[in-house]
Amino acid sequence: MYAYDLLVVGSANADLVTLVERRPGPGETVLGSDLQVQPGGKGANQAAAAARLGARTALLARVGDDAHGRLLLDAQRAARVDTAGVRSGGAPTGVALITVDPSGDNSIVVSPGANARLSPADVRDAAELLATSRVVSAQLEIPLETVAEVVRGLAPGSRFVLNPSPPVKLDAEILAACDPLIVNEHEARVLLGGAAGADGGPDGGPDGGSDDGPDGGPDGDGAGAEPADWARALLALGPRSVVITLGAEGALVADGRTTVHVPSVPVRAVDTTGAGDAFTAALAWRLGAGEDLATAAGYAARVGAVTVTRPGAQVSYPTAEEVAALPAGAPSGPGEPSGPEVSR
Ligand code: ADP
Repeated sequence: MYAYDLLVVGSANADLVTLVERRPGPGETVLGSDLQVQPGGKGANQAAAAARLGARTALLARVGDDAHGRLLLDAQRAARVDTAGVRSGGAPTGVALITVDPSGDNSIVVSPGANARLSPADVRDAAELLATSRVVSAQLEIPLETVAEVVRGLAPGSRFVLNPSPPVKLDAEILAACDPLIVNEHEARVLLGGAAGADGGPDGGPDGGSDDGPDGGPDGDGAGAEPADWARALLALGPRSVVITLGAEGALVADGRTTVHVPSVPVRAVDTTGAGDAFTAALAWRLGAGEDLATAAGYAARVGAVTVTRPGAQVSYPTAEEVAALPAGAPSGPGEPSGPEVSR
């Protein structure tokens, strides 16, 4: 019997956001709007998203002993995340400094702070959490050696989900545990041999927000131009399954036997911040509930769709009832088939 549907091991950041007329150039100072301080970080986002949906969720993370750390813990508790695994101290809470201009383009500096101190020893100390969680989810805003320790500490029968963001090349031990590996186009490109940050986009930031579509995709190591080609190339690296998120185009799921395109739900998007984190959390939860990859991704696409209709990251995450209330044209709740199209 598992105590948790989902354990998220990852980052918690305070997002410090100011709106500017123009983002500053070298040596330049500009005045911005009043500062908005919002809870963020991929780990904290995922945990909040899963718990809002009703998953029994725990977070293993590290924050500083400071006001930002308390803000993040309060947000997790408000979402009903079990925070007993959140360590405190060692460095200031991680911060993302975000300037947004009128066109919506942003510049982001991340100071990892305490996230960089979440250590393999912290994972070993949390052995009980790992042993009692049906699904364990991680991202890469914490040290890679810590993610490797998570993989080594997985309980038999539990499932590991990784969103390698910000992306770096992964070793075989971590890749072999991923079921699935969840990437957007930018992350796929880096894993397949393209240069990190080659597209100059915001994907390395705290939200991973992206409008990436299927055009002009990964070109590393002969991956080809189509998402199905990327999926095949990614599977060859060793994960048990792969999910490629495609923004408004939905997602592609592949497990080596079938490759299925899961359509997105048409909505009026106002802010894609944190959509990938909500998608991943929902997918991980539904996989743990026994759904197959395409069905779970169909549900996750509905969660992502609601998320992009609202501003912000954690504050935009829906409850299961809100997901079920999405207008017709898409399936209505967990456990129901998503109507995926088999592409090959
Ligand atoms: P990331 O933030 O990691 O780049 P995506 O932008 O691909 O991730 O978003 C994750 C998922 O959220 C998508 O696979 C899709 O299901 C949903 N989504 C994102 N943008 C939209 C959109 N404009 N309309 C509908 N669904 C969307």
